Amino acid sequence: MNLVKMQELAKSYDNQYNVLDGINLEIEQGEFFVLVGPSGSGKSTLLRMIAGLEDISGGILKINDKVVNHLQPKDRNLSMVFQNYALYPHLTVEQNILFGLQAKKVSKQEQQQRLTETAEMMGLSELLKRKPKQLSGGQRQRVALARSVVSHAPLCLMDEPLSNLDAKLRAHMRIEIRRLQKKLGLTMIYVTHDQVEAMTMGDRIMVLNDGKIQQVGDPITLYNQPANLFVASFIGSPK
Ligand code: ADP
Ligand code: MG
Repeated sequence: MNLVKMQELAKSYDNQYNVLDGINLEIEQGEFFVLVGPSGSGKSTLLRMIAGLEDISGGILKINDKVVNHLQPKDRNLSMVFQNYALYPHLTVEQNILFGLQAKKVSKQEQQQRLTETAEMMGLSELLKRKPKQLSGGQRQRVALARSVVSHAPLCLMDEPLSNLDAKLRAHMRIEIRRLQKKLGLTMIYVTHDQVEAMTMGDRIMVLNDGKIQQVGDPITLYNQPANLFVASFIGSPK
């Protein structure tokens, strides 16, 4: 069953050229779906449209078989992790993790339960009273992930969440995110410009260039049967 469906989805800013053009795509429930492409290809724009942070210029976006083109972000039942993972510097780890739940009318008891469970899962139990500046890059990243996980939203969107981390930590977090996604059965839409990340994490990958889909497929297919030279050179396969 598909959870997200896009039909001829388009985006233009100020009625100018199309940043995204004729995007047709279905993302399956429980799938780890990677959006990859060079800088400026429209990855963040597409993710923000799914999140409801960006108007849709044309086409139809469905989540759970329901048209959501004009639905508020808070009513879309999804969570999003941004590139700079913007934690509130004046709030503690605990307050940062629970921030989004307050608006959602989750009871205090339920909040505490989810906090304990999420912090344990993410290895943050000992750090709950700290402020973001007292954390390492990797720990901050885990807080951002915890904040998204604690919402219990079935759809998770991530926009280059590892780009600020060093190579070693990135490799570690790739595994951690994948494990978490599997464990919770999340449907993930994960944006990156890093081919290695795409190839090692994705069940399927969509290659985007200039606002157009170049190819959608599993990593092995993309590598062995790139649809065109752009995909071949971007994925690094010999064509
Ligand atoms: P990516 O995330 O793949 O790097 P983006 O989605 O951020 O790409 O941007 C795609 C294109 O849309 C770029 O050419 C960018 O300059 C343009 N763009 C993004 N946001 C805006 C905006 N608010 N106004 C005008 N153009 C924008
Ligand atoms: Mg981007």
